[in-house]
Parts: sequence; structure tokens; C-alpha cells
Amino acid sequence: MQSDLEMLLKLQVIDYDLGELERSKEYLPDMMENLRREIEEAENLFHNTQKEISDSKVMQKSLELEIASRQAELKKLQDQMMAIKTNKEYDALVSQIDVVKGAINEKETQLFEIVEKLEKLESDVKDYETRGKEIQERNSRELKILQEKMDSVGSKIQIKEEERGNITVRVPKRTMSVYEMVRKSRGGTVVVPVRKRACGACYKALPPHRIQEIKRGDQIITCDNCGRMLIWHNGESE
Ligand SMILES: [Zn+2]
Repeated sequence: MQSDLEMLLKLQVIDYDLGELERSKEYLPDMMENLRREIEEAENLFHNTQKEISDSKVMQKSLELEIASRQAELKKLQDQMMAIKTNKEYDALVSQIDVVKGAINEKETQLFEIVEKLEKLESDVKDYETRGKEIQERNSRELKILQEKMDSVGSKIQIKEEERGNITVRVPKRTMSVYEMVRKSRGGTVVVPVRKRACGACYKALPPHRIQEIKRGDQIITCDNCGRMLIWHNGESE
């Protein structure tokens, strides 16, 4: 009987590993998805900033051209001043000059803002590029490792299932069904050691005669409280 329990102890290690492998089929793709998204976000940030820089440069060029053409217009109006004959003509010309000066002022303010913005973007884009490359390299390495894990999950499960089969055929059917029942209802550990004269899982105290039975190890003793199978571990509970 002790050897049945020992086999069940091995079995529950295998079942734990199988559970982990099954769970990894869920969380590995999630982890990989997060790593890919991180790469994509860093790339997008870099490319969007590059796009913003080129758009701002187009805007800068167009403002510079507009200012130059307005300045030529202003020069022409100022030249006309020489030929002014009446006060009325003078007033009209002055107000025309004010309008053009106002327009130049406005465009110069816009140009100044664009130039400032460009300076910041040019410095940001270098950081985004460096960070993007770092993320790309680091996440690609991690993705490769996770992909290898994913690829091997199936064969690892198969190996564990075979190990499981080798054990279950050697354990009496009745014992196996108790094991499966407790595993399903309680989850995780089925065979637990006695600790401080109590069930090692739910801590329910065990009467002395139970402990003697467990020590003898010639039959399967289950905990009255949680139903788990109890095993005696020398030196642990005395
Ligand atoms: Zn218990």
C-alpha cells in the first residue's frame, strides 16, 4: 500500500506539471501578443513622429514662401509712398501697409512655433528610434524563447501523459478513483503528509490510532475533513 501511495505522489507531481503545461497553452500566446504589441507601438510612435516632422517641414517651407511674398508686397507699397500726392492716397496706402505688416507678423509667429516644435520632434524621434530598436531586439529574443516553449508544449504533454499512464496501470482501480475524485473536487494536491499530527492540507487534527494506521502504511487513509490521502513522512511530524 505504501508503494501505491508513493506512486500517487509521483502521479500528482506529473499532474501538477500537466496542469502547468495546459495553462501555458493559454498564457504563452497572451504573453507573445503583448510583446508583439509593444514592438508595434514603439514602431508606430517612431513612424508617426517622422511623419509629423515631414508635415511640419512642409508647413515651414510654405510659411517661409508666404512671408517672402508678403515682404515683396510690403516693399512695393513702401516704394509707392514716394509717389503719394494727396492725404487721402497717403491714408489708404498706410492702412494697406498695416494690413500686410499684420499678415507678416501672424505668419512669423506661426513659423516660430513650427520651428520650436520641429526642434522638439527631432530630438524626440531620436529617442523613439533608439527605444524602438531596444524593444525590438529584447522582445524578439523573448518571443523566440516563448515560441520554442509553445512548439514543445504538445510533445511535453505527450511525454507526461505516457509517464502518467505507466503509473495509473500499476495503481488499483479503486485507489485511482479516490485519487481522481479528490483531485477533481479539491484540485491540486491529493496525497499529503501528516504535519504536527494533523492533515498537511486542511490541518484537521488526527487521532492517535489514525496516525498509527498511516504510519503502518498498509491501507489508504483519507482525511475525514478534506478527503485527501495521508502519508507518513519520517521525521516531519514527531
Ligand atoms: Zn484534510
